[in-house]
Amino acid sequence: MKKFFIAAVPLAAVLALGGCSSTPERPTSDTSSLIVINSLSEPNASDSRNNSSSDASGVQANVSFSGDRVITENRTVAEGQVLTVRNGETLYINDGAEFTVDGGIAVENGGSIKVRSGGSLLLNGKMTLDGGLELGGFLGIREKGEINGAGLLTVLNSFDDIDCKGTCKAKIKAPEPVEKDGVTYVGGVLIVNKKYSVPEDYGEELGLVIDEAYDQLLKMREDTGFDMPLVSGYRSYWTQDDLFNYYCEIDDYDKVVMYSAEPGHSEHQTGLAMDLGQITEDYVNTEEGGWLTDNCHKYGFIIRYPKGCEKKTGYDYEPWHVRWLGESTARLVRDSGLTLEEFLGVEAM
Ligand SMILES: [Zn+2]
Repeated sequence: MKKFFIAAVPLAAVLALGGCSSTPERPTSDTSSLIVINSLSEPNASDSRNNSSSDASGVQANVSFSGDRVITENRTVAEGQVLTVRNGETLYINDGAEFTVDGGIAVENGGSIKVRSGGSLLLNGKMTLDGGLELGGFLGIREKGEINGAGLLTVLNSFDDIDCKGTCKAKIKAPEPVEKDGVTYVGGVLIVNKKYSVPEDYGEELGLVIDEAYDQLLKMREDTGFDMPLVSGYRSYWTQDDLFNYYCEIDDYDKVVMYSAEPGHSEHQTGLAMDLGQITEDYVNTEEGGWLTDNCHKYGFIIRYPKGCEKKTGYDYEPWHVRWLGESTARLVRDSGLTLEEFLGVEAM
């Protein structure tokens, strides 16, 4: 058995990010304990590493954690224990190593965790992130896993490197946008808005909507019993062109651009967007529309143009327009309380 290093840590400071009016409330307090126990359980408690000298991983359970440490093989912070990474310290999780947190982990302001390519951080318990978490490898946030705090989770490569089934309230920094064949991606997430477009011929092979999104629509219907009619899915560049020009004939241009996209700039051309139910703001007040707003993230969608975010998205509130992101990223966006543009750190127009 290990001896524990005990220290007090402040409660997690809760980020007070400005969300739009339809976004969920952030918790106002953190329930984690004040006591920190600095310990890592060994994969094999009886082996020779179980002494006071530095082991292969560089982590010693029976001394205080100080300076940089490197995890090179599987390690676990056991239930009931909390590991603290202090100011000036870095915990590296190397290629091939799985670092599992069943208890808790606190990264203080100025401290950091760096998950290197091939390394994994699996969170079953709570992380208080007041420092930095740099993700070059994999992060699994399990059902009971939770990240809080005023620190920053930096995604170096792709949002596919995160599997979030729990909660992440920490601020996330996305990778820089990358353009490929005229399409812009941020950490693997395709972005289309008033600033970013797709080519004329993009999506011609897509059909109504991509398969994963359609399957999840069927699942939403099955789980709820709601009809949730698919009013509009994929629209080609030229269909969008006709539609936009038609609206401009019957309405003021300044109004039109708030509800209709110019050709090449519609999310409907990506096969990732669907209009469901009724194309009216009142949809949110129906049982079906209200359910969609509150639950679509569990099925991999976000309400793309939230209420009160007109200046941030460039579009009027559309409680019927959902955007497919996949379950993990949809949860992250939902937890952030931000628009997709704010979450990805890109301009909307
Ligand atoms: Zn739409």
